[in-house]
Amino acid sequence: MSTTNALLKPELYSAHDGHAEAGARCFLKGGCCRCGFIFFPMQRYGCEQCGADGEWLESYELRGTGTLVAAAMVHMHKGENRRAPFVVVSVKLDEGPVVRTLLEHSPEQPVPEPGSRVEAFLASSENTAESSSLDLRFRLRTSPTGLGAPE
Ligand SMILES: [Zn+2]
Repeated sequence: MSTTNALLKPELYSAHDGHAEAGARCFLKGGCCRCGFIFFPMQRYGCEQCGADGEWLESYELRGTGTLVAAAMVHMHKGENRRAPFVVVSVKLDEGPVVRTLLEHSPEQPVPEPGSRVEAFLASSENTAESSSLDLRFRLRTSPTGLGAPE
């Protein structure tokens, strides 16, 4: 049995099967309004589309798959919690919301093009090296048809 690690921001995402471990796919904890609008992260202040609040807004689990809108490699970073280079991406989730986070990426690879398919997963957090907490990342998605490398 594998160990379950703590999530850095459990209010924002959860492991697909409940077992939080590095490399596992994850859901994003979004919300939906009875008007049909889907958003991320979950909040109860009000719907951005129709203004409804309170009980009109419900938790809604986003699958964590989406399409790359933009990607930028950061070559210099002032913070000490993360070493450059790294790639920041905007991802349009299949359910609609756009999120900005980091992409799993090797410096020798080209930065992926907009339109690339990506998926959310849990990666060991770099800013808490002494603990084993996991944070949200995106990675390029292998072909669902089975033509890509087997997982
Ligand atoms: Zn609404």
